[in-house]
Amino acid sequence: MTSARDFEDVIIVGAGPIGLACAISAKRHGADPLVVDAGAIVNSIVHYPIGMNFFTTPDLLEIGGHPLACSGQKPTREETLKYYRGVVRSEALRVRTYTRLEAVTRESQALRCELKDRRGVHEQRCGRLVLATGYYDHANLLGVKGEQLPHVSHRFDEAHRSFGLDVVVIGGKNSAIEAALELFRAGARVTLVYRRAELRPTVKYWLKPDIENRIKAGEIAARFGAEVLGMDDAAVTIRNAEGRQERLSADRVYALTGYLPDFDLFRRIGIALDEETGRPHCDPETLETNVPGVHLAGSITAGRATSEIFIENGRFDGDRIFGAAVDRSPRGHKA
Ligand SMILES: Cc1cc2nc3c(=O)[nH]c(=O)nc-3n(C[C@H](O)[C@H](O)[C@H](O)COP(=O)(O)OP(=O)(O)OC[C@H]3O[C@@H](n4cnc5c(N)ncnc54)[C@H](O)[C@@H]3O)c2cc1C
Repeated sequence: MTSARDFEDVIIVGAGPIGLACAISAKRHGADPLVVDAGAIVNSIVHYPIGMNFFTTPDLLEIGGHPLACSGQKPTREETLKYYRGVVRSEALRVRTYTRLEAVTRESQALRCELKDRRGVHEQRCGRLVLATGYYDHANLLGVKGEQLPHVSHRFDEAHRSFGLDVVVIGGKNSAIEAALELFRAGARVTLVYRRAELRPTVKYWLKPDIENRIKAGEIAARFGAEVLGMDDAAVTIRNAEGRQERLSADRVYALTGYLPDFDLFRRIGIALDEETGRPHCDPETLETNVPGVHLAGSITAGRATSEIFIENGRFDGDRIFGAAVDRSPRGHKA
């Protein structure tokens, strides 16, 4: 495991694509950051559905100018995992995995971080902190009974495990539709439950007719305009569009109702948030928050609008943070 120094100039929290890109920018601007992650490196991609293809072309997922090779037009989950491992190795980034940032306090000129790993909680002082913590490990919970049961998941893993089972998919955006279709094609009996009366026009143009035709043909059951009331070992209980309670048999439940940044962590650190949008206050030039020395990067900068900043448009945030603070020269290297 990468060992930390008594005092770190820069700590980057989150070894997602954006956190890693920030670490490369920091290095290219003369710092040697420590990157910590609560899980593995690129832990969000680790939790993508197995075998998933990105919708982004490989060039737009690249960081630090390292080429991403893939066998098809779009990279798979597995190809990107390999890619980001390679980038960490070839940039010799100092990464500590399975280490979660719990809290930050100010101690005269330094920031004191509480980091938790399997051995316990320890303190680490640093000069600057970059949060690139994403949103994928904070599901937007329904807040109903039974949501934490072991057969209920807030991330779709793979369809194969559900062959021959009754599966309820909750949600109506792309991830829920994609999961419902894959589950159906893998031999699950699928019911899609969505709170709106119809699908939104933002559903991917190739998914929309596919799901609508499957529903029309009775191959996938659907309950639109439905409210989820709770779950137990055997079923999901809903109030359907007609106002009647209904129990939908469920061996497995995928509650794919979106994700949110860890607002509690931001509040504990003292970062001001816009009440309505959840957008953290930060300087658009340097991404520094109202807490001096604490910057934000990547998807979390957009608050609740989690689909606004993704890999392709977030991967240069490190240049804004470190370019502005360490090297203002117009010839300063851009990753
Ligand atoms: C199924 C799916 C498909 C997608 N497809 C695409 C695509 O094709 N193209 C695209 O550009 N984007 C895609 N995205 C979105 C993309 O995954 C995100 O935009 C991207 O991962 C954001 O990068 P990030 O580095 O900001 O956050 P993340 O990749 O989420 O990384 C955040 C990291 O921070 C860590 N972390 C969180 N809290 C803490 C803490 N307190 N302490 C320490 N570590 C912490 C997490 O473990 C994680 O590794 C997809 C997302 C999903 C869910």
